[in-house]
Amino acid sequence: MRAWLLDETTGPEAWHVGSVDTPMPGPREVRVTVKASALNHLDLWVAKGLPRPPAFPHVGGADGAGVVDAIGDEVEGLSVGDEVVVDPSTSCGVCEVCDRGDTPFCAEFKIVGEHRWGTHAEYVVIPAENAVPKPPALDWPAAAGFGLVTSSALRMLRRARLVPGETVLVVGVGGGTSTAAFALAPVLGATAVFVTSRHAPKREWSLANEADGAFDSDGPFDEEVKALTRGRGVDVVVENVGTATWERSMRSLARGGRMVTNGSTTGRTAELHLPTLFWRQLEVIGSTMNDHREFAEAAAMLADGRVSVPIDGTYGFDEFPAALERLEAGEQLGKIVLTH
Ligand SMILES: [Zn+2]
Repeated sequence: MRAWLLDETTGPEAWHVGSVDTPMPGPREVRVTVKASALNHLDLWVAKGLPRPPAFPHVGGADGAGVVDAIGDEVEGLSVGDEVVVDPSTSCGVCEVCDRGDTPFCAEFKIVGEHRWGTHAEYVVIPAENAVPKPPALDWPAAAGFGLVTSSALRMLRRARLVPGETVLVVGVGGGTSTAAFALAPVLGATAVFVTSRHAPKREWSLANEADGAFDSDGPFDEEVKALTRGRGVDVVVENVGTATWERSMRSLARGGRMVTNGSTTGRTAELHLPTLFWRQLEVIGSTMNDHREFAEAAAMLADGRVSVPIDGTYGFDEFPAALERLEAGEQLGKIVLTH
């Protein structure tokens, strides 16, 4: 099959299109003919060896949607021809943690396109439980684009224990997960949602989509958030930017507020002012990816229109390098999708 491959981890330019053996599904797996796949920052990270793929050649791509074309002997409830979306969070499926449904806590937790072959290819093999019915209302690009970011954002807001009536700040809107968190927060009952972005068009887009305030990520957004919340701050901050914004994100929190992070685009370390943490009784919460229930719930929200994830643009399969360049430049608003 044709696929976007890595043979080394020298950076995004290491991705090249090539041919590898078409993978066969194991007893509890299915093979999907990929109709569209979506880019994520992990396509950039994995090309830099963060983390290094388990073997070479490595096939990239975490998000995808397509048609089931082969099924393992032990698979039930799926047939050849079913239209599905790929849930990128895989696990052993048999341990105590998996029994509870806590996919990302499994010792065998693996992300499609990062720790196993991915979706930027003609075919992808995934565990049967990771093949989720495609919401019929979505076309292929939309079906391929929503998965990782919407389910990850849902988990972040869950882990931050957002409840109706609370307020949210999403730092760095425009990136996929942040944009999904911006869309999800009102659905989960947030009464005010503020955003930051370095890009004026993204701030304008947010205000046109009912943000209660949109501030420059490079400016004193903590003070601006306080000014719009009568000095109080917000209950939940969704923070994926990392070093560049961390301190101001912390200062945007109300007493008892929770900051949840699942990314660190601008740097991997941050300082924590401990008296602020304990005196204001703040919480810093890590989150990564999603479990299968969160993915199913995200799919249901897309299916009935409660949430939509903007598509920044679609590229042909062979245009992956141009699509990656746009992702790396950070100018996208929503998902960048390859049509196969
Ligand atoms: Zn497990």
